[in-house]
Amino acid sequence: MRLLPFLLALLFAVPAHAQGIQQTKGNFEDKFRQLDEVLPTPNTYRNASGAPGHEYWQQKVDYRIIAELDEPRRRLTAQATVRYTNNSPDSLPWLWMQLDQNIFKRDSMAELTDSFGGAGRRGPKVTLGSGNEPTRLSMDELRRQQSMADNDYGYNIRSVRTLAGANLPHTIVGTLMRIDLPEPLTPRQSTEFAIEWAFNIIEEDAVVARSGYEHFPDDPRRGGNDIFLIAQWFPRMVVYSDYEGWHNKEFLGRGEFTLEFGDYEVEITVPDDHIVASTGVLQNPDQVLTAAQRQRLETARNANAPVFIVTPQEAAAAEAGNSRGKKTWRFSAPNVRDFAWATSRKFMWDAQGHKQPGAEHETVMAMSFWPKEGGELWRKYSTAAVVHTMKVYSRFSFDYPYPTAQSVNGPVGGMEYPMITFNGPRTTLNKDGSRTYSLAEKVFLVGVVIHEIGHIYFPMTVNSDERQWTWMDEGINSFLDSVAGYEWDPNLPWTRSLPRDMIPYMVSSNQQPIMTQSDSINDLGANAYGKPSAAYHLLRDTIIGRERFDFALREYARRWKFKRPTPADFFRTIEEASGTDLDWFWRGWFYTTDHVDISLDSIYRLKMDTKNPDIDLPRRRRERAEEPVPVGVGLDREEGLPVWVLENPGIIDFYDRNDEFTVTPKDRKSYTDFLEGLVPWERQAFERAVKEDANYYVLNFSNKGGLVMPIILGLTFNDGRTEKLMIPAEIWRRNSREVAKLLVYPKGKELVQVVIDPDWETGDADIENNHYPRRIIPSRIDSFKDEASKSRVSRDLMGEAAGAEPDRKRK
Ligand SMILES: [Zn+2]
Repeated sequence: MRLLPFLLALLFAVPAHAQGIQQTKGNFEDKFRQLDEVLPTPNTYRNASGAPGHEYWQQKVDYRIIAELDEPRRRLTAQATVRYTNNSPDSLPWLWMQLDQNIFKRDSMAELTDSFGGAGRRGPKVTLGSGNEPTRLSMDELRRQQSMADNDYGYNIRSVRTLAGANLPHTIVGTLMRIDLPEPLTPRQSTEFAIEWAFNIIEEDAVVARSGYEHFPDDPRRGGNDIFLIAQWFPRMVVYSDYEGWHNKEFLGRGEFTLEFGDYEVEITVPDDHIVASTGVLQNPDQVLTAAQRQRLETARNANAPVFIVTPQEAAAAEAGNSRGKKTWRFSAPNVRDFAWATSRKFMWDAQGHKQPGAEHETVMAMSFWPKEGGELWRKYSTAAVVHTMKVYSRFSFDYPYPTAQSVNGPVGGMEYPMITFNGPRTTLNKDGSRTYSLAEKVFLVGVVIHEIGHIYFPMTVNSDERQWTWMDEGINSFLDSVAGYEWDPNLPWTRSLPRDMIPYMVSSNQQPIMTQSDSINDLGANAYGKPSAAYHLLRDTIIGRERFDFALREYARRWKFKRPTPADFFRTIEEASGTDLDWFWRGWFYTTDHVDISLDSIYRLKMDTKNPDIDLPRRRRERAEEPVPVGVGLDREEGLPVWVLENPGIIDFYDRNDEFTVTPKDRKSYTDFLEGLVPWERQAFERAVKEDANYYVLNFSNKGGLVMPIILGLTFNDGRTEKLMIPAEIWRRNSREVAKLLVYPKGKELVQVVIDPDWETGDADIENNHYPRRIIPSRIDSFKDEASKSRVSRDLMGEAAGAEPDRKRK
């Protein structure tokens, strides 16, 4: 109690860490400062523990859509009735819709701001030249420019009307459209309107996006065949949220989608020999499938392995046929945030029921659709990977929340929608007609199916805002897909995103904080997939521990299932459910571009002085004797130079016979005075320490990378034994640049070697300064031969003109 006034005084003397407070003297940096001042203030919609608040709300949007594909013109025409329910406490004078297809208009913000020489839509398309090197433009980019010039893309909005048929005023702003309501939509009210539109479907391989058609000119049918992957194909309601109102960030291509949940009834009319895969559940199998196919679907529900619904033979017949009729497929999808579909006469189709006893959907139909180009690779692995994903992801979150889970092959490398995913890997056709695939294609297929099906959990169900934060869904999903990949086969060469894999990015000046809006990120893969995934591996395996981390992640998933979490909700939930203050971790990993590099600069070994002159002074004499004599004195001895006092013994006195370490009665008296001056407990502690004669080590660390991290020590002792010691990151709380740590071991147990982070857990960028003593760094030499210049002035044009073949050995 008597400490209280002192503590109170301290509290008032130290300035509170409110926003705007600056340290103007010294270089203290509070890496453990709480994030409250950065995160939004909790409220009744989102509470301080990171859960939905007691007045949480979100809008609901239901769509009834009728669409028809004009296959020869690759054009989609559709109409919809949209029912918008305002669950917010606000009155809305207008509604906003997203017109994603408008990104492909020639004057879209995305096209106009696509900067030259930068990274392209998927990797660099342009390399700027330097010196005499010409600028390089890829054939892909040339093809894209030509496709954009030749075609008229973007939505044609034909009408926006009330259900009574009155025109609703609407204003198109790039990829957004405002619809003015006759009167404001008040809280807890719904409104309905009708909209008609059409658009030309992009050629995916030319334009490169998240949907489109792919043409197969070599198919047996005259004119070839197409696969259509249809997404971002209807005007979708913009989100109106408690933290941003209407979300009005333009679609620029990279930042994906921010969407509302709702119920969908969709009718899709396609050529009658097509097979349609779609979000939702097929409502009219009697009208679109043969009796045999319907029977196979029933069999598949309880099968232990995938069963063909459309066989390779049926697909081959459709591919070569010449049917001209139409069929309408009807799908129903309750409580989804989006709707996508795919159609082609090239598709074969397999299915297997995945059982989840006790879940809302006890049998989930795992299904795959692929053309012959997918071959054995798809038959063996696609539906199997869909089932495997649900098994692993549900352990980390909740039961798979929908009745179907589909993987469709097509031109999009990998993209996710509710209940349906588009995945790109294929086989190679050999000259003898056989099909084979590389290990890379196999790993790509299993990996991409896991990843995209995983997205049905995050963000299709845990509905984070992708337009703003790619990392929120991709980070968790990359983390879980690596967990699922290792559980599929730990020996396959998966793309890893462990902390150690992120070092090149985290030390580069190209790095940006993870908390960067999706469209502004340079290296999306490293920033929004790899780095957050590495952060979760680190939290799970090193900082929090598996059990508590998995518990916290599951809690986050369950709290926000079918709801819209923000970064603050994620940070707060993981902290509160794991019982760990992680503000330092979020601050360092998500808000800065620091990296991990802790150096072990020096170690001191200390022994306790006994203060007893009969022990300490002889020891000091021995230590002095062990010091090297000055070089000159040594040389004098070697030369045999005479020493005056030895040559003149008559002048020898006390100090020649005794040194400064000679014990005097005064020394002994002051030792006994010291002992007698100690109170009993002091004397007991002192005498015990002297008797035990422990080894004290002071380890001096410096933080060169900036990120505070636990200091993990691999300790090796003189008897060859090793120990691992984890010092929590909080050791850096008063000084984030340098800290010292005292370690004490009993007499005889001596430290001989210390290594920081011996198992490479933390992504420490420079492991050489982790070793104490420093080690000789192992490396390799690669010898090489100078290449002769290939420029035209260096070439033997005279010889080439005469048709001579150079003898490469002669020089
Ligand atoms: Zn993804």
